[in-house]
Amino acid sequence: MQSQHPPLFSFEFYPPKTEEGAASMQVVHSKLAALKPDFFSVTFGAGGSTRDKTFDTVVDIQAKGIAAAPHLSCVASTKDNIRAILKNYQQHGIAKIVALRGDLPSGTLSAGEFRYANELVEFIRLETGDYFDIHVAAYPEVHPQAANATDDFKNFKRKVEAGANSVITQYFYNAESYFYFVELCEKNGITIPIVPGIMPITQYAQLFRFSEMCGADIPRWMRKRLESFGDDKASVQAFGLDVVSQLCQRLLEGGAPGLHFYTMNQSAPSLAILDNLQLKS
Ligand code: FAD
Repeated sequence: MQSQHPPLFSFEFYPPKTEEGAASMQVVHSKLAALKPDFFSVTFGAGGSTRDKTFDTVVDIQAKGIAAAPHLSCVASTKDNIRAILKNYQQHGIAKIVALRGDLPSGTLSAGEFRYANELVEFIRLETGDYFDIHVAAYPEVHPQAANATDDFKNFKRKVEAGANSVITQYFYNAESYFYFVELCEKNGITIPIVPGIMPITQYAQLFRFSEMCGADIPRWMRKRLESFGDDKASVQAFGLDVVSQLCQRLLEGGAPGLHFYTMNQSAPSLAILDNLQLKS
């Protein structure tokens, strides 16, 4: 089983779009930085739509003393484009990267030179050798566009074989899907850390929409409870905190090497979960 002591924590941000958002992120960052996470990651709009904002946010975070890992999606990108981004990060001492395919808005045609994330990982290794610590995505509940679960796992394995150092999963609420996935990895000789992605629950409608899109299952019992709270935000949040804290506790006790929080640029939900965990050092 995976396990590693103490567990590694990381927090994901999206690049703020407004000055107000940037100011709020500074506060969120300093609250989360106090926990000394392993790194902060910053998302990247597919097709490069947030290229400069991702870069600026990453450089700002790294300058404050904790490692920052830019996400980099390759769909609709050229090799020259990706090469330039990598070079820029290297010049700024950024050594971690989350390598992804990305999703283009529906109806957009991809004119890029990469089709899948394994090609991006290969390209990063070819261009920069061992410089980057490369994280890739995994889907314990199967990627929504996969032909089937078996092919999806084979495709995931290609990313590991191309040189990924570590894995962050899509969020899930079924702990068994994670444990099964880790077991499958072990049976297939994959020994790199597989860190569960954690989505705190603070709102119902948004979570439901998001989960539909990315193929994360909200178990019936959770859905029914969340629905029953209606507009009662406090009850949604209390239930969410309880359920997600229990999930995290179970994952860590079951050997998960750490937790990666999808913060949605908020500190309170992740802090409340971490506060609930009985961490052993
Ligand atoms: P891939 O690994 O390329 O897989 C995509 C699909 O193609 C899968 O169905 C897979 O089975 C199939 N496939 C893969 N390789 C092959 C192959 N060689 N032949 C045939 N089929 C293949 N999106 C963003 O736009 N920006 C972000 O910052 C971002 N951050 C993310 C962070 C995490 C931790 C996660 C889990 C997801 C993130 N996403 C982000 C979403 C991600 O881009 C989408 O889930 C996307 O649909 C798949 O990306 P991937 O890197 O997993 O793709």
